[in-house]
Amino acid sequence: MADRSLRGMSIGSKSMESDEGVEFAPRQEATYDCPNGHTIVLPFATDAELPPAWECRCGAEAALRSPEELPDSEEKPVKPVRTHWDMLLERRSEEELQVLLDERLELLRAGKLRRG
Ligand SMILES: [Zn+2]
Repeated sequence: MADRSLRGMSIGSKSMESDEGVEFAPRQEATYDCPNGHTIVLPFATDAELPPAWECRCGAEAALRSPEELPDSEEKPVKPVRTHWDMLLERRSEEELQVLLDERLELLRAGKLRRG
C-alpha cells in the first residue's frame, strides 16, 4: 500500500519536472457563445485556425465570438459614443432604412411631419 502511494508520488514529481523546461507556444483564447446561454473559452495556439463553431457541453453548437465583440475592445477610449442613429443602423439593413427614409420623406413633403 505504502509502496503504491510512493510510486504515485514519484510519477507526479517526474511529470512536474518535465514541464519545467517546456516552452509553451503563444496562446489565444477563443470564446464561443452557446444558444443556451453558455460561454466556452478555449485556448488555441495563435497560429491555429479557430473553428467557427464548437459543441457545447449541453450538446448545442456554440458559435465563435468575433474578436470585435470581446469586452476589452469596448474599454478603448477611442470608441465613439453610439447615437440612436448608429443603433438603428445596427438593427436594420440599408434596404429597410431606405424604405423608412422614403416614408419619412413622403410625410415631410406632404407637410405631415413636424419638427421637434
Ligand atoms: Zn450550451
